[in-house]
Amino acid sequence: MELFFLGTGSGVPSKERNVSSLVLRLLEKSGRTWVFDCGEATQHQILSTNIRPRRIEKIFITHLHGDHIYGLPGLLSSRSFQGGETPVTVYGPSGLKDYIEISLSISGTRLKYPLYIEEVDEGFLFEDEAYEVEAVKLQHGLKSFGYLIKEKDKLGELRPDRLKELGVQPGPIYQEIKEQEKTTLENGRTIYRDEVLGPPKKGRKLAILGDTRYMPELKEKLSEVDVLVHEATFASEEEAMAHDYFHSTVKQAAQLAKQANVQELILTHISSRYHGEAVKQLEREANTIFDRTTIAFDFYQHHIK
Ligand SMILES: [Zn+2]
Ligand SMILES: [Zn+2]
Repeated sequence: MELFFLGTGSGVPSKERNVSSLVLRLLEKSGRTWVFDCGEATQHQILSTNIRPRRIEKIFITHLHGDHIYGLPGLLSSRSFQGGETPVTVYGPSGLKDYIEISLSISGTRLKYPLYIEEVDEGFLFEDEAYEVEAVKLQHGLKSFGYLIKEKDKLGELRPDRLKELGVQPGPIYQEIKEQEKTTLENGRTIYRDEVLGPPKKGRKLAILGDTRYMPELKEKLSEVDVLVHEATFASEEEAMAHDYFHSTVKQAAQLAKQANVQELILTHISSRYHGEAVKQLEREANTIFDRTTIAFDFYQHHIK
């Protein structure tokens, strides 16, 4: 699992930071790619990476402000030209369906792949064999969501010592034993998978939040996530301004990370008023409260352990 930040600025693009977009690559599943927000020129940012638009399977939109969606029709359209044939599902708040359908129809765009648009509400969104995703309501000028991605627990490793005790010789049979609940050996003996597996491997949890005011009440919901991606539009001293504009400060994001006891915090959606030394200062402010904080920058890749 890896996060790849394509745009980390707030509001308008700057030379250093494009507007919001973040890619989650689920490496174990042959490059399945999920996109979170799609600000203008996200497809241009993708050109400088090894991300393949045809691998994009799901797009999650946190809210409908322009700096999060103006790149969406272009990306969907280019994906068609670039040979994307597999379906794409886009999730986001109400209004998303109109926005996409009108943009595509007015521009005479016909996609060569099935596009599904799901307008979301708070709560359970979907699950597949490996992940479960939930939408969390935030506080912003428009309806805004965070997405909580929970990887399902995986089977533990086979224990060779146990297998040996049961008289199973190493070979392709090991794989078979792991794949099914019980396996009958050639000698007629039945091996139950549970008897020969180590403890299950705990799935990872990620929270990718859209624009929001500070919401300390999220601490239970975000409790012990492995990675929290939180906006930090303003420096710590700008709390009043952050409140007025429905955004958060660096300090507030770090406080929430601490209260929720998350493993790591990544800050994004940084205002263009901060660059160079000022960004280092933001990082120091965050680290005094929560020392496992990183301030994302465009093309920052974060491997999730
Ligand atoms: Zn924004
Ligand atoms: Zn916004």
